[in-house]
Amino acid sequence: MKASEIRSKWLQFFASKGHKIEPSSSLVPHNDPSLLWINAGIAPLKPYLDGREIPENPRITNAQKCIRTNDIENVGKTRRHHTFFEMLGNFSIGDYFKKEVIPWAWEFLTDPQWIGFDPNRISVTVHEDDEEAFEIWNKQIGIPEERIYKLKEDNFWDIGEGPCGPCTEIFYDRGDKYGDLSDPECWPGGENERFLEVWNLVFTQFNHNSDGSYTPLPNKNIDTGAGLERFASILQDVDSNFDTDLFLPIIDKTCELTGVTYHANEETDVALKVIADHIRTVAFSVGDGVLPSNEGRGYVIRRLLRRAVRYGKVLGLDKPFLFKLVPTVGDIMGVYYPEVVDKREFIEKVIRTEEERFHETLSDGLVILGEMVQKTQQAGSNQISGPDAFKLYDTYGFPFDLTEDFASEKGLTVDRAGFDASMQEQRDRARAASHKEGGMKVQGGPLSELTIKSEFVGYNELVVTANIE
Ligand code: ATP
Ligand code: MG
Ligand code: MG
Ligand code: MG
Repeated sequence: MKASEIRSKWLQFFASKGHKIEPSSSLVPHNDPSLLWINAGIAPLKPYLDGREIPENPRITNAQKCIRTNDIENVGKTRRHHTFFEMLGNFSIGDYFKKEVIPWAWEFLTDPQWIGFDPNRISVTVHEDDEEAFEIWNKQIGIPEERIYKLKEDNFWDIGEGPCGPCTEIFYDRGDKYGDLSDPECWPGGENERFLEVWNLVFTQFNHNSDGSYTPLPNKNIDTGAGLERFASILQDVDSNFDTDLFLPIIDKTCELTGVTYHANEETDVALKVIADHIRTVAFSVGDGVLPSNEGRGYVIRRLLRRAVRYGKVLGLDKPFLFKLVPTVGDIMGVYYPEVVDKREFIEKVIRTEEERFHETLSDGLVILGEMVQKTQQAGSNQISGPDAFKLYDTYGFPFDLTEDFASEKGLTVDRAGFDASMQEQRDRARAASHKEGGMKVQGGPLSELTIKSEFVGYNELVVTANIE
């Protein structure tokens, strides 16, 4: 079954249960400063959850573009993680609850009219105190007790003050070739991917109060999310999400550009997967108006693009190439997301320009880095000094992580504390200078924005630091 068919079946199924189909929102959250990216199907529907807005229909379904940069290290290593993916969702805003949603999930998954999974391959987890969910799965649906795992932390959705509640997660057993059941890591929630998590059903039934107590909510909500790419990997009977029709054409195109063969070697496979992942993220974000820059979302995109270029080097690509993958992304995704086709030329241009700029940065900086590596090794050290790393950052635009990545290829580390100290020294110097010049320090307001630079400290955390130049 093609991925586009799975997506339509999902929407059709929930429409048949009285849900309104909402189109995917932009990846950029609207009126929500707490979130860098839309990272779940419920995220754009948040105003309905706390009653700020009343939906036309309390039953909603969607296929939502999501970005989760916290999964970046998993990309290409696990079979199931992406930085950009589609979450299929169904939501009840104070309408139906557990006894409706669990049987619907079961129907969608096991009825051959929908996606028709073998019922014997399905296991679920429930929160250890959620007797109600356990009973529905066990008595009403008939899942034997030994395939219902009672967990704690993983099965409670709580983000601090506000609505929260237990969840139940659905896993598909991919069979013996993925691991032996005597190994607990093979069970749902373990590191092994024999049991593939496909769907999370969250029951928001409590309010987490400011004093830390939990009280039942008068209006209970349902928030579910399932990964389209994961469904596709099962239904297309392939080893990983990357082998589905959502990714394979991008990988094939990259192979065509490089002469590399997919599934021939572990290292090149990881590179092909990372590139296929990152180009989707970058193309969709640019399509939603995020341009590469040195701060906020733009910096995430710049970093992802640079990371993809670096993986391109593993495949022997030394010239801009990512932009050439954009039409393929459009061919695959255009049926549901016309923006990647409509804005294709613009997306290609932005990506191409950014790739060109990065190649220039690289060629200048790499010469200097090469000298630094040599100097370090000659001195009998295995660590690039903080001031050297700072010089690469300050003069050649090398983010710390990039220096670290290149250094590690040469078996060297980089002195993070020394780098931070150099950065601080530079700030102190700048501050002192601005005082000397009559203290023209802008404290707030629009002008101060001009001198604010964001410093990248990880994909989830962007610390904005005032950098007075
Ligand atoms: P995992 O444990 O596999 O990392 P999760 O528990 O973090 O997944 P949820 O937050 O429960 O994921 O999201 C709901 C569903 O969205 C998951 O069951 C999965 O199908 C899908 N999903 C979540 N994160 C990703 C990702 N990075 N790439 C692809 N699909 C994802
Ligand atoms: Mg996760
Ligand atoms: Mg999980
Ligand atoms: Mg989950």
